[in-house]
Amino acid sequence: MINQEQAVVELRQVSKRFGNYEAIKDLNLSIRRGEFFSIVGPSGCGKTTTLKMIAGFDHATEGAVYLSGTSANHIPPYKRNVNTVFQNYALFPHMTVYDNVAYPLKLRKVPKNEIRSRVIESMKMVSMDPFLDRSPNQLSGGQKQRVALARALISKPEVLLLDEPLSALDFHLRQEMQRVLKHLQREVDITFVYITHDQGEALSLSDRIAVMKNGVLHQVGSPEEIYEMPQTSFVAGFIGKSNLIKGRMEGPTHFVSDAGLQAMTNEASDLSGEPHVYISVRPEKLRISKDDERYINRLSAVFVEETYYGADRELTFREAGGTHILMKQQKDDGNVKFSEGESVDLFFRPEDAVIVKEWGS
Ligand code: ATP
Repeated sequence: MINQEQAVVELRQVSKRFGNYEAIKDLNLSIRRGEFFSIVGPSGCGKTTTLKMIAGFDHATEGAVYLSGTSANHIPPYKRNVNTVFQNYALFPHMTVYDNVAYPLKLRKVPKNEIRSRVIESMKMVSMDPFLDRSPNQLSGGQKQRVALARALISKPEVLLLDEPLSALDFHLRQEMQRVLKHLQREVDITFVYITHDQGEALSLSDRIAVMKNGVLHQVGSPEEIYEMPQTSFVAGFIGKSNLIKGRMEGPTHFVSDAGLQAMTNEASDLSGEPHVYISVRPEKLRISKDDERYINRLSAVFVEETYYGADRELTFREAGGTHILMKQQKDDGNVKFSEGESVDLFFRPEDAVIVKEWGS
């Protein structure tokens, strides 16, 4: 009997060394059945290595990978109920689209009639059924990736691993394929483990996100948890934009920056003993008006420049410690113009100051 609560993929205390280089350090991850789970982090943080260990193409130096509760360390890739979609599609160029998608079922000697109906079903799911007789080189990048998805899903794996599948596509196609992927995942109800270095993509697609840097897992949580409550300075800076101000806690909710900024926070911090902590304040949380009495924290800064992004503007300031402060200009702040070097007070609420520990930023 399938236990819905059981992790479909679990990494327990996994380390991976290449020679003397430790690419993955003591990684613990638990991926739930049916979720869209993303692993995000900068180049070289260990995303692909993690995926390869789940697929069985690579092995942990220490620790173990479990698939549906069973240690998979000695199970070869082809016996794992896991498929992978790669960035470069990996379609067979000499076969038609039909034969590409049918290939996994032919290997398993599935009857021809069943193959035909399942190929058509899979190709319909990705809206590619009119293209069965084409050769892969007659398809666009987005179409190739749809075919690769159909091929990966046709054998109904428990887990689909996707290694930066959209990174070769241009911006608009990428957005369209993001929608395709999200709908497809809900429709087929297969666990997706999705790798990306694009934090926006991870936020918009995922049920949960793991953020990694230098082989170390920094945080796992829902997109909202990761964005609203980052736990480390790296997560705060990597997922969305953040103003990170360095200082120390002078009490559970009283922060003092190195440059003397005093700020109250809502959450009591257990980082009082730490020599360095940060508060993270998102650019959209800053105000230049103090009319609203909830905005009790004042940050004095000088204006540097304004950048226009179409839908909004970003103002850059510099606070006394030299840190650049970004503010997304809000409608109710009007379009106030500042001159370079002008002193400005910025305000934020205690609940908008998240205390994060210094870690790898
Ligand atoms: P990217 O986003 O650039 O693909 P990544 O997060 O997927 O990066 P990995 O490919 O997992 O990173 O690599 C993690 C680290 O391990 C990197 O420093 C990489 O150079 C190293 N590494 C990966 N494979 C090997 C290998 N076979 N031999 C030696 N070092 C390796």
